[in-house]
Amino acid sequence: MNFELTDEQVMIFDMAKAFGEEHIAPFAMEWEAAGTIPKDLWPKIAELGFGGLYVSEEYGGSGLSRLDATLVFEALAMSCPAVGSFLSIHNMCGGMIDKFGSDETKAKWLPDLCTMEKVFSYCLTEPGSGSDAAALRTRAERTNEGYVLNGTKAFISGGSYSDAYVTMVRTGEDGPKGISTVVVEDGAEGLSFGALERKMGWLAQPTAQVQFDDCKVPAGNLIGEEGKGFVYAMAGLDGGRLNIAASALGGAQKALDLTLAYMGERKAFGRTIDSFQALQFKLAEMEVKLQSARTFLRQAAWKLDHKSHDATKFCAMAKMYVTDASFDVANTCLQLHGGYGYLADYGIEKIVRDLRVHQILEGTNEIMRLIVSRQMLAERG
Ligand SMILES: Cc1cc2nc3c(=O)[nH]c(=O)nc-3n(C[C@H](O)[C@H](O)[C@H](O)COP(=O)(O)OP(=O)(O)OC[C@H]3O[C@@H](n4cnc5c(N)ncnc54)[C@H](O)[C@@H]3O)c2cc1C
Repeated sequence: MNFELTDEQVMIFDMAKAFGEEHIAPFAMEWEAAGTIPKDLWPKIAELGFGGLYVSEEYGGSGLSRLDATLVFEALAMSCPAVGSFLSIHNMCGGMIDKFGSDETKAKWLPDLCTMEKVFSYCLTEPGSGSDAAALRTRAERTNEGYVLNGTKAFISGGSYSDAYVTMVRTGEDGPKGISTVVVEDGAEGLSFGALERKMGWLAQPTAQVQFDDCKVPAGNLIGEEGKGFVYAMAGLDGGRLNIAASALGGAQKALDLTLAYMGERKAFGRTIDSFQALQFKLAEMEVKLQSARTFLRQAAWKLDHKSHDATKFCAMAKMYVTDASFDVANTCLQLHGGYGYLADYGIEKIVRDLRVHQILEGTNEIMRLIVSRQMLAERG
């Protein structure tokens, strides 16, 4: 067993970190205020191969492992968790198309996805179904030409911003077996968007409802087979959860790095606050939390890469553990900054706001507990 990253993996992490420091961090507050990420960022990120991280090289992707991808998201999130996570969702769509699409489907979507000429969103949640995603009601009726969609998707990251929407729709019976996946392109007849949501964090990325009113989609936009869409959506989420965890970890690590430096500068009662043992212990506790989270995350990614039978359980455990630990660390870092932690200029309050949603989306941490305990009970002798 070797816990060291390879030279190539260290290079991937360093490259992503350096890119973030130059092209994301200096503008993160500006993009928060604007409520959007300039679209010209994406082709630059794609030049590093981050547009199609685990898309096969044949279609323009980087063909990296899930473990490699977590390094990219951890590093980018050190500059802005919201931007890194947005890229993660685009990559989740790429992974689904690459894994489940036909050759024609892949040739149609993946080259532009990898160069990020087209930015992709993932549409599963609806106003009436979040955790119980298999209860979705957006209907796709088959016609001679393709499908006609009716329904609404809620909370869509990139809603009204993206160029294509990987959408889970009902083509058959109630329940998971009646769900299919189609790509809806921006500009499709009958596609419209709700107003941008006002949020606590992830302010740089637009979030909106995506609405389908007799929205026409060509038959060729179906991914894989009818009735398998829920399986594809859940497979996408296994990897997505690793990335959401990695992004939380990167944000928390940044908060800890800032706090270590701050504690050596800030004085109280005539000495720097890093000399108080109670606070030193907090540093140690945060270090243990992040190091254990990182090891656990990489183990889960390794299991997904090696198609282990318990990969889904490990992805759920890692998502829950890493995002909870990361939020706790970021929040403690805010406390250690005193009042200054609450001010925007110190960079900590944004991380706390951004990391909160990592405990909620791509399956809440309660649903992660459900996945883990279900598998434990199923395997009980
Ligand atoms: C900023 C943001 C961006 C998002 N981006 C996307 C996106 O791009 N695409 C997309 O499809 N979705 C997206 N989502 C939606 C997100 O995945 C859902 O909000 C999430 O899955 C929870 O669903 P819900 O909000 O309907 O909560 P609910 O399902 O209504 O849950 C409410 C509460 O009940 C708990 N709960 C529910 N069922 C159980 C149970 N069986 N046992 C125990 N507890 C339970 C939940 O954990 C939660 O605490 C986004 C959400 C946010 C906030």
